Amino acid sequence: MIRPSLNAVAATYALAADPEHAALATATSHLSGKPVNRFTHIHQNTADLVAKVKMQRALGQKTATCFQRCVGMDALNALDSVTFEIDKVKGTQYHERFNRFLRRVQDEDLVCEGAMTDVKGDRGKRPSQQDDPDLFVHVVEERPDGIVVRGAKAHQTGALNSHEIIVMPTMAMRPEDADYAVSFAVPADAPGLTFILGRQSSDTRKLEDGDMDVGNPRYGAQECLVILDDVFVPWERVFMYHEHEFSGMLVERFAAYHRQSYGGCKAGVGDVLIGAAAKLAEYNGVKDASHVRDKLVEMIHLNETLYSCGLACSAEGRATASGAYLVDLLLANVCKLNATRFPYEIGRLAEDIAGGLLVTMPSEADLRHPVTGPLIEKYLKGVSGVTTECRLRMFRLVENLTVGSAAVAYRTESAHGAGSPQAMRVVIARQADMEKKKKLADDLAASPKQ
Ligand code: SF4
Ligand code: FE
Repeated sequence: MIRPSLNAVAATYALAADPEHAALATATSHLSGKPVNRFTHIHQNTADLVAKVKMQRALGQKTATCFQRCVGMDALNALDSVTFEIDKVKGTQYHERFNRFLRRVQDEDLVCEGAMTDVKGDRGKRPSQQDDPDLFVHVVEERPDGIVVRGAKAHQTGALNSHEIIVMPTMAMRPEDADYAVSFAVPADAPGLTFILGRQSSDTRKLEDGDMDVGNPRYGAQECLVILDDVFVPWERVFMYHEHEFSGMLVERFAAYHRQSYGGCKAGVGDVLIGAAAKLAEYNGVKDASHVRDKLVEMIHLNETLYSCGLACSAEGRATASGAYLVDLLLANVCKLNATRFPYEIGRLAEDIAGGLLVTMPSEADLRHPVTGPLIEKYLKGVSGVTTECRLRMFRLVENLTVGSAAVAYRTESAHGAGSPQAMRVVIARQADMEKKKKLADDLAASPKQ
């Protein structure tokens, strides 16, 4: 079941090893001066931020799914600047600790998982007000050698494929929630960790004979419910402890990086879906119909708009106090708000072009069956020169991306990954400087003729 998701993570290593993509998928570590996989790199300038988005698009194109390694990259980058800023105010040693951890991640080219979203229980209550205190990850014991933590993180992308789980608080915390303002890293095989794999639509097709009905037989994604049942974390791996006033900053920066990420990965997956829709139009014999051409152009326009925002928030990035570059918060949130809509529309247009066979076609087993096989070959054929199997495989790929197991990565994750749509709207409202806009209007409305 998890093999395709493993393959997608493996693609992040393969890209860095591929000479054609090395410039995009590797970078020079600011700690060691050595080349490292970009997924472990701390962005040192806007070119790094741009390269990140381009690398994600390339991997989206290669895998047509979520390759899972960006959450860890985004967690590392957020922690770099936030640990530095906590130390400056509090006189703590978090940044040095973090750098030692980062150095190992870079040297050993590890996959990190960024675990932010708590299970949250009653959304109307704060962490310390919940009936069950474990519904947000919190510290249950402080020891001379470290802390013991308990709780659960939901929707954890690639958790089972990671070496390290980096836990962060899920929202801004108040003084009474200080036990919940905690960030740390634990190895994925630390005692007390339990991973419960999420179900995806059509997921058991991966276990059937044959590969056609999976749609994208080689690549997939995974999400887990990660439970931390009294997990011990040595101080060396703790990056925030009780600094509730910095919790919001860590959330905001991690979220901004991950909202930037969607401008890359989803655009790459969109490229595959647009290509599949165009192929189906050819196979169905309608490639020259003007409405089909219009729909394909519309899909491209939406996809490139998504990508443009990912590039824009990167180009407008700025240095933080630690030297790590942070994306423009307003544009990163606009980027992700686009992602909550555009993949749905691109998917709708792909389904429109494909036709209903997308969801009514027979199985691979029926195609291989001695009685039904020849009937399917004959009656589900499209244009001449293209085998029925070839046509049906393309339908399956579109099905996989729109309503199959990859719909997790392309659709619902586009809505809720890196925060739900409302979370972007809140940041956009805060970052937009409405007073300045009103003043612009005021000045012009009140100005006399010249
Ligand atoms: Fe990376 Fe996109 Fe998956 Fe997030 S959703 S981990 S950005 S591929
Ligand atoms: Fe995600």
